[in-house]
Amino acid sequence: MPHPAPLIDPFARPISYLRVSVTDRCDFRCVYCMAEHMQFLPKAELLTLEELDRLCSTFVGMGVQKLRITGGEPLVRRGIMGFFRNMSRHLGNGLEELTLTTNGSQLGRFAQELFDCGVRRVNVSLDTLDAGKFAQITRWGRLPQVLDGIRAARDAGLRVKLNVVALKGVNEDELFDITRWCADEGHDLTFIEVMPMGDLGGEDRLDQYWPLSDLRARLAERYTLTDLPERTGGPARYVRLEETGQKIGFITPLTHNFCESCNRVRLTCTGELFMCLGQEDRADLRAPLRAHSDDAPLRDAIRNAIALKPKGHDFDYSRQSVGGQMTRHMSHTGG
Ligand code: SAM
Ligand code: SF4
Repeated sequence: MPHPAPLIDPFARPISYLRVSVTDRCDFRCVYCMAEHMQFLPKAELLTLEELDRLCSTFVGMGVQKLRITGGEPLVRRGIMGFFRNMSRHLGNGLEELTLTTNGSQLGRFAQELFDCGVRRVNVSLDTLDAGKFAQITRWGRLPQVLDGIRAARDAGLRVKLNVVALKGVNEDELFDITRWCADEGHDLTFIEVMPMGDLGGEDRLDQYWPLSDLRARLAERYTLTDLPERTGGPARYVRLEETGQKIGFITPLTHNFCESCNRVRLTCTGELFMCLGQEDRADLRAPLRAHSDDAPLRDAIRNAIALKPKGHDFDYSRQSVGGQMTRHMSHTGG
């Protein structure tokens, strides 16, 4: 069969990166991500792992080169290692990278197997090195388990990147400790600005908003920062700390416009495709997936969806209220 044409959106952006949320469930309840008593989706709504395989494989066949598995917490989905193993058949065969974003709690169990499936890098979300603060932020998480997981990942040969959500008044005072720890342990580091996602029971995201421009200025008080030209098609911008040689990323979706080079779309665990993290535009892929055993209608649905990818998002913290706020949770689209 001839190769289907690659996915190009109406703004001439090639879509080569698919982020897949394989579950909305999680063993943590991070305050900026979930309410403590979350209503999770009924299991029947979720795509099976076989359906997720078929969907992801279809995307790979249409030019997706990078798959990031996320959630919820991807490693709490039962059978997820079988899914990774199956996906690894595409590596070197269209797919260039298979990776995941995890809270790290299950890495102690799964790091070696992930490596064996061809995973080479993991993003681990960790906002503090203080056990008390960690318990406050994640509500149900325990820091030593995550630190053990990170160690297991490194021992298995996985490169670890720490994703740190910058939280005013929470981890502000740990900026240099976290930076130093990553340098010592050989982990990459990216800071993320907190985003206005979901209704989390009246907690005010504005209170914790710590602009990365400010965080960066503070880093510059101690280190020499050199801007790096690299772009990944996403919101991250990078600098090098000359004193340590570290590369540090900043994800500032609210203060920078990165949409012009966007190369990604997001698939939820129910088979909805979100064309933009900050917009409601979506397409249902579950219906065409379940209605036909032939992949052609699914490919048509994907193409039609990509044709609707919007130009960009409208997040805005500049006023006292949060503009462009999304009503869905990060755990729905996987961040
Ligand atoms: N459970 C996994 C984890 O925590 O890495 C994967 C899913 S989680 C939704 C993906 C990323 O979204 C994490 O790095 C998390 O810190 C981030 N995140 C969640 N809610 C956020 C928010 N309101 N603003 C910014 N980042 C957020
Ligand atoms: Fe779970 Fe990740 Fe959300 Fe925290 S950020 S509640 S670990 S999905």
